[in-house]
Amino acid sequence: MRHREGDADEPPPRAPSGEARRELPGDLDRTASASDEELDADDDGRPRPTVYPIELDEDRIDPDAAKVVRRLVRSGYEAYLVGGCVRDLLLDRRPKDFDVCTSARPDDVRRLFRNSRVIGRRFRLVHVLFGGGKVIETATFRRAPDADEDRGTEDLLIRNDNVFGEAHQDARRRDFTINALFYDVERCEVLDWVGGMPDIERRAVHTIGKPLVRFLEDPVRILRAIRFSAHRDLGITPEVYDAIVETRTALSRAARPRLFEEVLRLMRGGAAHRALFLCWETGVLDVLLPELSTFLADREEDDDRVWQLLQEIDRRTAENGPLDDVVLWTVLLGEPLREACDGVRDRVETAHEFLEAVVDRLNVPRRIAESIRRIVALMPRLESGRGGRFSRTSLYPMACEVLDIYRAALGDAAEGAFDAPSGNGDGNGADTNGADEGEAPGPRATKRRRRRRR
Ligand code: ATP
Ligand code: MG
Repeated sequence: MRHREGDADEPPPRAPSGEARRELPGDLDRTASASDEELDADDDGRPRPTVYPIELDEDRIDPDAAKVVRRLVRSGYEAYLVGGCVRDLLLDRRPKDFDVCTSARPDDVRRLFRNSRVIGRRFRLVHVLFGGGKVIETATFRRAPDADEDRGTEDLLIRNDNVFGEAHQDARRRDFTINALFYDVERCEVLDWVGGMPDIERRAVHTIGKPLVRFLEDPVRILRAIRFSAHRDLGITPEVYDAIVETRTALSRAARPRLFEEVLRLMRGGAAHRALFLCWETGVLDVLLPELSTFLADREEDDDRVWQLLQEIDRRTAENGPLDDVVLWTVLLGEPLREACDGVRDRVETAHEFLEAVVDRLNVPRRIAESIRRIVALMPRLESGRGGRFSRTSLYPMACEVLDIYRAALGDAAEGAFDAPSGNGDGNGADTNGADEGEAPGPRATKRRRRRRR
């Protein structure tokens, strides 16, 4: 633990101050980030950051997050705003949440804030709690594990990133340069150990260090790169793009709950269309959702339905905030699911089998998979305005939203999109168990058959 010295109200000088201050490097074409060795070192041999005097708009900084930082600093610790909030403020976006990192150990933070709790077993963080359920996550600096500490050279996958460290080490263990900037609230300075500011300037997503290595260490970073690019409208450097293509199959080794969550994050942020397009273009979709990528590869040339549906999701997200997870998944899988069910006698079983593979691969919770299956199976009734008993279930509003999205995105082409079977009873029999969901398709059924990719 390193305590700062000096007056509690005055931030102590950063020795040797000023010397590390540099202009934005003019050469923005570099493809690798600065390594520790390239940076100046202070008297203790610690790499010195490039310091950018930048006054971020106080009004946009969460006052409670600033309070946490200030109290830590006044208690003698180093503390900064870090990660997504600094990146988003610099990109002129409103941050989703504010994270703090500090030299204080979790128990020290806990002692300073009565309204806090320590969470996490593997890596202990402190949640400082404020009114309205606001949480300021406060993490002690940590470093990446040594290369030979936990893994061989063959297997780069990080399994333990649980070691406390110093600020510069904490910066370097992060994923992308734009995510590793520290903001000193007192001094109004951005500290950059990794070349993040130039990447903010040129609006580029670049890994800290070699992209191949960083993606193999943690393949979920591939999806994070795609998400940041899509949602913040940033470019992906060619080196990073190529590494995504090269390492994409490593995604199948990532923890499945993380994959599930990341796919949702791609869908939620208002840029689902761009994110999924990038996944498709890079071949990432082949690994995550081969059902969808095969569908896209085999569709007729003028069939843009999947993209139109995703655009409609983005439009609604911009208008009303993120959609329900069940709605997002149903629309994402809607077209290939519809195709799989096209013309089959037993829609229930077919939808079930289709979803089983996705559930296994991405750890989709049963609750969600079952909801998708029921919505898809019952959609034909809904389309013809015969919700029956289904209309009294909690799934009904979500099913209606899916249908609305189809209608808004596809217009007339949405009619019969779900392969409405003919003569499906009186419309009241559609129960939530899907007892009669497996009828044969009627005249409105989509007749198109697609080539299967081998
Ligand atoms: P968002 O606004 O979407 O939350 P974020 O950058 O805050 O974006 P988080 O998932 O909240 O993303 O992560 C917070 C920070 O933790 C990131 O900015 C990054 O510095 C670091 N981080 C998160 N995931 C990883 C990872 N897989 N590898 C390395 N660093 C990571
Ligand atoms: Mg975040």
